[in-house]
Amino acid sequence: MEIKRENVMIQDIIESSDLLELADKVDHFLQYIQSESKQKTLIHKLEQEINTSQSFFRLMDDENNPYQILNGKSVIIQYLYNILPYGFREKESLVSIRNNINHIRATIENPQGKRLCEKDIRKIMAHLENRFKYCSRVLKSDHLRISLLNNSFKTMNSIYTSKILTNDVIIHSIFLAHEKKSFGHPQEYTLLHELGHALHTEITRKQATLPESFRSVQELMFRKSLDFPPIQVVEIFADCFTCVASLGTELEKNNPLNAIHPDDKALLVKYFDYLMVELDKTSA
Ligand SMILES: [Zn+2]
Repeated sequence: MEIKRENVMIQDIIESSDLLELADKVDHFLQYIQSESKQKTLIHKLEQEINTSQSFFRLMDDENNPYQILNGKSVIIQYLYNILPYGFREKESLVSIRNNINHIRATIENPQGKRLCEKDIRKIMAHLENRFKYCSRVLKSDHLRISLLNNSFKTMNSIYTSKILTNDVIIHSIFLAHEKKSFGHPQEYTLLHELGHALHTEITRKQATLPESFRSVQELMFRKSLDFPPIQVVEIFADCFTCVASLGTELEKNNPLNAIHPDDKALLVKYFDYLMVELDKTSA
């Protein structure tokens, strides 16, 4: 009888229509878990359920699908996959899940403006493939999932996160939300920015570590940033990538770096072309 109730609760969590509903349902689940003596089993059960759903996504990760665009229930699964603290002791897991619920409630709100559709995303990915062979190079042996959220973030338009599996395969995740007008950039720009994060993560295999070579770009163009913490410098890298990736497209004029000197722009073009060629060597 009890087992049935747990299964229903877990299925109900996965069926959440958005992240705010997910937070409420997980909260309910945690309250139920805390009243139980078998916390470990139930957290493990939730993790197992998410892992099983993930293995279906992996079946779709192949050369014909260098990236996947997720909608509805798949987005919830992908989100849970990124936040569940696999392999922790149950007490630590509970704290971590609780922190994630608080984080959702503090940063997420109901949908505001419009959101990119699949067609817009495929157009951008096709442009990047054409310009850099982005999918063939950056996603050669790793995977990208672009999840379309039914919410807005309070202070941004998207998030990028990654998971490195034990076999060194990286799952890059971008969560695209409904546009927050006050953010000031079009959603296409946001997607390019996050794909810039996927690029540096792909090269260094660590989300907050940039390739050594970017130091030279900082010295030439962003001297003030030389002492910035890595978490800030990765943002400069992603904006530089966006600048180069948007050249020659209608997004060019919206780019915050568009006003830089043409020589600096040419330098960035050279730099990202160099990085792409280097990727060919490392992943050969
Ligand atoms: Zn960023």
